[in-house]
Amino acid sequence: MNLPIYMDHHATTPVDPRVLDAMLPYFTRKFGNAASGNHDFGHEAHDAVETARGQVADAIGAISAEIIFTSGATESNNLALSGVIRQYAERGNHIITTAIEHSSVLDTARDLERSGVTVTYLPVGRDGIVDPAHVQRAITGQTVLISVMYANNEIGTIQPIPAIGALARANDILFHTDAAQALGKVPIDVVADHIDLMSLSAHKTYGPKGIGALYLRRRKPRIRLTPMIHGGGHERGLRSGTLPVPLIVGFGKAAEIAVNEMDSESRRVAALRDKLKTLIMDRLDGVTVNGSESHRLPNNLNMSFAGVDGESVLLGLKGVALSTGSACSTAEPEASHVLKALGLPPERLQSSIRFGLGRFNTDEEVTYVADRLETAIADLRKLSPRHHSTGSPSAPTNSN
Ligand code: PMP
Repeated sequence: MNLPIYMDHHATTPVDPRVLDAMLPYFTRKFGNAASGNHDFGHEAHDAVETARGQVADAIGAISAEIIFTSGATESNNLALSGVIRQYAERGNHIITTAIEHSSVLDTARDLERSGVTVTYLPVGRDGIVDPAHVQRAITGQTVLISVMYANNEIGTIQPIPAIGALARANDILFHTDAAQALGKVPIDVVADHIDLMSLSAHKTYGPKGIGALYLRRRKPRIRLTPMIHGGGHERGLRSGTLPVPLIVGFGKAAEIAVNEMDSESRRVAALRDKLKTLIMDRLDGVTVNGSESHRLPNNLNMSFAGVDGESVLLGLKGVALSTGSACSTAEPEASHVLKALGLPPERLQSSIRFGLGRFNTDEEVTYVADRLETAIADLRKLSPRHHSTGSPSAPTNSN
């Protein structure tokens, strides 16, 4: 077993060696600009981009013409919200979203509020799931867009996307979902689920960083957008800029592998995750799982450990890469907005750890992490007057 062990796959994933192999020729021999129509270097790059577009489309039940390449899910989320609001201004000025979205949705929504848009931030239950009845009740005559993430990056909860899609369609409102964490983990079907726009990111799925996509429905209804980036008219004028061909090729390959291997990988990773949970629960008391256990990504486990500070636990865990929450917000020392939205008491907010398992984790690594965690937490609890062991195995265990 090699140290350090990486168990933070919600933050990012390593590039799969098969993905890297697919990308390499496009840095050197096949370096053409996909927009150069006058020679074979350009044609070769263009063909590679279109193959990748098809691979990404296939992974979500879309067609190639519905995929716009962006720099990642942050850009896709910005473009989806701002692009729809500006394009459909005559329909209204209200967006419905949730309190547990990624900051790239929440901060875009707040920015739009400053320019006169009204935003409803729906609460979630203690299980971290949005109630579709709350979505229905939030709809007004001004609602243009509903944006609800597919799966959460901190607690892994999977939202009732088919139900929300159906009610968006019934009310003639556009539906966007941020599926950055869901691709390759759960089956996605944009047609069956009435999804109009969807954000994706390659680096959460063993592809390279710096590339993502926005799915944009072409038919029934055809979605239009006001672009944010202007220039040479790439990506049907919706996102100008020379296409990063190697990254796009890598994204296509990563999406293809993710979907082909999803069933077996999800089962294997979920079994490792469940083993980790059982080992921890059996050995430590005062442990609670944050968020629904039934509607959850196969690779996610988020737990609070009574009487200890999550950051201190991580400092004591040498050789293991974990996180207390979202990597994207570590600059802000604030407690996680996702855990706050679950209504957790303050002590559980500060004592949480996120485990994000992945393709290359092993059984041996899970055992090692559980061992190290047990020692680190026991050591901290000895020092801390806050936690008194009851002696009983795992006191209240779950938030559901
Ligand atoms: N949405 C979610 C749910 C995410 O987890 C992330 C990455 N932390 C993003 C959006 C942003 O993706 P990217 O890094 O591709 O900009």
